[in-house]
Amino acid sequence: MLLASSKFDELRLDHLTRSFGALNALQDVSLTIRRSEFIALLGPSGCGKSTALNCIAGLLAATGGSIYLDDKRIDQLKPEDRGFGMVFQSYALFPHMSVRANIGFGLKMRGTPKAEIAKRVDEALALVRLEAHGHKLPGQLSGGQQQRVAIARAIVIEPPLVLMDEPLSNLDAKLRLEMRAEIRRIHNQLGATTIYVTHDQDEALSLADRIVVLREGRIRQVGSPRDLYESPDHLDVAEFMGFRN
Ligand code: ADP
Ligand code: MG
Repeated sequence: MLLASSKFDELRLDHLTRSFGALNALQDVSLTIRRSEFIALLGPSGCGKSTALNCIAGLLAATGGSIYLDDKRIDQLKPEDRGFGMVFQSYALFPHMSVRANIGFGLKMRGTPKAEIAKRVDEALALVRLEAHGHKLPGQLSGGQQQRVAIARAIVIEPPLVLMDEPLSNLDAKLRLEMRAEIRRIHNQLGATTIYVTHDQDEALSLADRIVVLREGRIRQVGSPRDLYESPDHLDVAEFMGFRN
């Protein structure tokens, strides 16, 4: 049984900052994310969404602040020691490896016994509804199916946290809607704590329990989809959420 996110109560960003030379790509971001929450990091291109996600994943070092999982400070840990599941815009699958091998790769690297890998890959394939495609190569699948493989690969390691960076932006509009529903279904089924980066307001509104609006590296507003839609704190948030005066 996949039991993602059963391992901690909260992830806390404490004045998280990342600069590139004079540019503060992320500035003083403080935020507490509770277990099983689905959080959308929302904002226009260049506002710091990927920077935030990559700092949380450990792919990018923060230049200030800290990150905690409960009482444990994790921002000095290597990405593999944080063990978060990642899904990117580009599926980043190994083209020469079968779907099953792609999904099981992380478990194999951790030295998980073969029989256990097979069992967990089966469960992950069922969860993303690709039972019939395990033997195929990624190139034989549609874009939507490849992104399902990427999702299965991220969750099969039972990560405490799933990080997704614009996972649907390479898909056409119809598939995007379909996959949006899939992602929410998988979240409901697993209860995996998820941080989902998007520039798409509709996506954030329909997927997230809470939305964090970023602007120029800072948090502009945090709230439920309803809060943000009905009572945006700032004119720019209102405009960004789709209101026009
Ligand atoms: P988003 O994901 O919201 O589009 P990013 O986090 O990628 O935004 O980028 C935030 C800001 O930081 C942008 O101004 C971007 O140009 C800058 N930036 C991101 N990565 C680098 C880097 N490796 N070197 C220099 N500037 C960067
Ligand atoms: Mg980005």
